[in-house]
Amino acid sequence: MNFTEQLAGIVGAENVLTGADALRPYLVDWRGRYRGRARCVTRPGSAAEAATIVRLCARTGVAMVPQGGNTSHCGAGIPDESGDSVIISLGRMNAIRAIDPVNNTLIAEAGCILQTLREAASSAGRLFPLSLAAEGSCQLGGNLSTNAGGVHVLHYGNARDLTLGLEAVLPDGEIWDGLRGLRKDNTGYDLKQLFIGAEGTLGIITAAVLKLFPQPRAMVTAWLAVESPQAALDLFGCLRETFGGALTACELVSAVALGLVLTHVHGAHPPFTRNSPWHLLIELGDTEGRNSLRSALEDFLGKMLEKSLLTDAILASGGEQARRLWALRETIGEAQKIEGFSVKHDISVPVSRVAEFIKRADAALEKAFPGVRIVAFGHLGDGNLHYNLSKPGASESTGFIEAQPRVNRIVYDIVDELGGSISAEHGIGQLKRDELLRYKSPVEIRMMRAIKNALDPHGLMNPGKVL
Ligand code: FAD
Ligand code: ZN
Repeated sequence: MNFTEQLAGIVGAENVLTGADALRPYLVDWRGRYRGRARCVTRPGSAAEAATIVRLCARTGVAMVPQGGNTSHCGAGIPDESGDSVIISLGRMNAIRAIDPVNNTLIAEAGCILQTLREAASSAGRLFPLSLAAEGSCQLGGNLSTNAGGVHVLHYGNARDLTLGLEAVLPDGEIWDGLRGLRKDNTGYDLKQLFIGAEGTLGIITAAVLKLFPQPRAMVTAWLAVESPQAALDLFGCLRETFGGALTACELVSAVALGLVLTHVHGAHPPFTRNSPWHLLIELGDTEGRNSLRSALEDFLGKMLEKSLLTDAILASGGEQARRLWALRETIGEAQKIEGFSVKHDISVPVSRVAEFIKRADAALEKAFPGVRIVAFGHLGDGNLHYNLSKPGASESTGFIEAQPRVNRIVYDIVDELGGSISAEHGIGQLKRDELLRYKSPVEIRMMRAIKNALDPHGLMNPGKVL
């Protein structure tokens, strides 16, 4: 029996895809920047099937590329061009195995679509707070493997913070059952954290125990106009001081980023009649259902207007208006994709240094590439910015791809000087491997390699990614 016939023996012939048409969507990434080739795609229906596939690959020396919803921004789930690898697509493993409302936990399989997971939590009267614009197609396994962030990290933390236990298939095909729903467990190394953020290079995540939270009863969403990133930062400090943990999101949007949405997204309307160079989208949530949250925010914004920390404000009058304000933030990525190529960064710096980063990076880039278009937006409250560069015209933008190494050097050197990270959300994948080597210390790279070699000595798990 050849390799694909053996796979068919494990998962059934209908779950081994081989034809060019069937393979196509698995071989190109969301941005259309990376294309690869593969022997086939296989779709296990259980952890036991996934483990049998991995054992077959380990025995025959076939490289494996785990894939979830294929929304990675750095080509992390796309195989190389050799055509030797097999893509292991987790989409069939989409069961919610259990919900424990008293322990506030949910056990889900890796192929669960994030939105489905959030809906399952909601049906049980709970909140699963991980939320990102790709939630209609990204999967739990991908979210964990990239340690996804999104818009509520400020209050609830990222995927790492939301995971209590994990089940994974190791590169030799053994299943590790670490599905413990414990909030305290100090029995040595926290192994689940190795797989979270590993981008599929250490094994295949098959299920996880996730933290649930009470659903907020009162929610207030507001869109604010501010003069500068420094004003936004000062305002964020005051919001934190006044509302503490009730502040669940604080997103920064530049006028350029908003302009792209208003140009390309059907039904998008400007929040204010007057233009503003910068905007903040904020959300407050309260599980006690206090009606006073809204009036407290109104009072607060009045004071901030008097102090000139903001120049305009809109409080959403209800869920529909809040949804429309959020859409202005969440469609920036899509709007930018329509404009063509851009050099993307998802950097972080200490929150206190966000304004300094923008000032220095903007000035250095404008000097090096006069007329460059800077699309800056993101999670101000986490010190995490999406900082994307392009040329205004689509044809010019395509040529700009050649400038990527120089652009990266300017941006990442400033990030490094400010004590920041070259990837706060999207991970390393194929895109930032060289940058990782450049900016991590030799001792960090040595420890990472030691872990990789210990778990995957033959380098069969998602080769060419991260390290
Ligand atoms: P994939 O792209 O399929 O895979 C990503 C990586 O995980 C690959 O290395 C793959 O090999 C590995 N992998 C997938 N499943 C498994 C598994 N079961 N076991 C082991 N490894 C696995 N990211 C954020 O953090 N915050 C955002 O706000 C955000 N917004 C986005 C908005 C849009 C419109 C898009 C397109 C993407 C956005 N992303 C964001 C990036 C992306 O959606 C996330 O990284 C997401 O978590 C990836 O999930 P996925 O299922 O698509 O993973
Ligand atoms: Zn983001």
